[in-house]
Amino acid sequence: MPTKPLILVLNCGSSSVKFSLFDTDETGELLEIQSGLAERLGQPEAQLKLRAKKETDTLEIAEADHERAITTILDRLRDDGLFERIVGIGHRVVHGGEFFSGPTTIDDDVLNQIESCNRLAPLHNPANVVGIQLTQKMLPGKPNVAVFDTAFHQTLPASAYRYAVPNSWYTDLGVRKYGFHGTSHQYVSSVAAQQLDLQTAGVLTAHLGNGCSAAAVVNGTSVDTSMGLTPLDGLVMGTRSGSVDPGLHQYVATQLGIDVAAVTASLNAESGLLGLSEVSNDMRTLIEAEGDGDVNASLAIEVFCYRLAKELAGLTVALPHLDVLAFTGGIGENSSAIRKRTVDLLGVLGFEIDDVANSQNGSESNGFIHAASSVPILVVETAEEQMIAAQTLNTVAL
Ligand code: ADP
Repeated sequence: MPTKPLILVLNCGSSSVKFSLFDTDETGELLEIQSGLAERLGQPEAQLKLRAKKETDTLEIAEADHERAITTILDRLRDDGLFERIVGIGHRVVHGGEFFSGPTTIDDDVLNQIESCNRLAPLHNPANVVGIQLTQKMLPGKPNVAVFDTAFHQTLPASAYRYAVPNSWYTDLGVRKYGFHGTSHQYVSSVAAQQLDLQTAGVLTAHLGNGCSAAAVVNGTSVDTSMGLTPLDGLVMGTRSGSVDPGLHQYVATQLGIDVAAVTASLNAESGLLGLSEVSNDMRTLIEAEGDGDVNASLAIEVFCYRLAKELAGLTVALPHLDVLAFTGGIGENSSAIRKRTVDLLGVLGFEIDDVANSQNGSESNGFIHAASSVPILVVETAEEQMIAAQTLNTVAL
């Protein structure tokens, strides 16, 4: 039996590495055959979980950094005799600046451009570069493709991406809205348009995971989104504040006698659901805590839903018509309570939830959750790894 080509997808986060290995066939169908997650990199508890054929293998890799974690993953794939079958490696790259509006085969120039974006995403892009350099070294001659979180949002009009700051900050420093989670917003908006069989579609998407963002998408083109220059902007997230008054930085820095970098670090790591609740950054835990009467957890959820509804309402001005709202990400797919509380704030836009459909739909069953008279609302399981694999396969096949 001839062996089928494989696509490897590598997703290097700030303290984690995810990988997926996809089988391909002549129809372009992709089937995940192995996956893995290395977490808490740099800490004594660092761990690598590998999953193949429904079996999970856990390796303790104390203090491992990105390089060691990725090397361990690649060594395992080589020992399993899978290297020869890999025809392309797709890398999730968080920031592509204004250089990239689609998946791109990586050569020296492209890698230099990705590295030049490190200053815009210092927590994320350097890890992406390590991943690329390692696969270049360990799988020589195999094409590497970068799939950028920012690329889908490169179609935003200037009225949406420019900030009202000195022009030279944009021209000299690249200060503008870039937007993130592009792969997810692209996939989810296209599924929503397909499900409704829309020829022209005005779609709102809400990607709600540890990081959260919303987007307005018209006929498959992103026209506005909530994240900005960095993934700190916009919605309330697990540990990230989302939008705050730009005057806050100086006020807090002066009052606490700390520098702006320390304020930014707190806004990234100690804010959001965690900061408000002082309980957890995890929505499941907060919903449980609210059930037990924790008022801070309740407030955190209230703020999360209010800010999300307000952002979605704001994004409608970018749409010629409003056809569907789609929820995705760990919270969007699994939490009927968060979907309900958010949609209940959006009645003025014609949204109304159907409680039965809402409680029955989730990651196991994508589906509509709106009442008969409502603008359609849909739950879609996101498929970022699959999208990266598909875009990599297309790019290497060109
Ligand atoms: P990441 O952005 O790291 O990929 P996920 O998309 O997995 O994260 O989302 C993680 C979030 O989803 C966490 O806040 C988690 O509590 C939340 N979540 C997962 N399942 C549920 C659930 N059943 N109810 C509420 N929240 C959930």
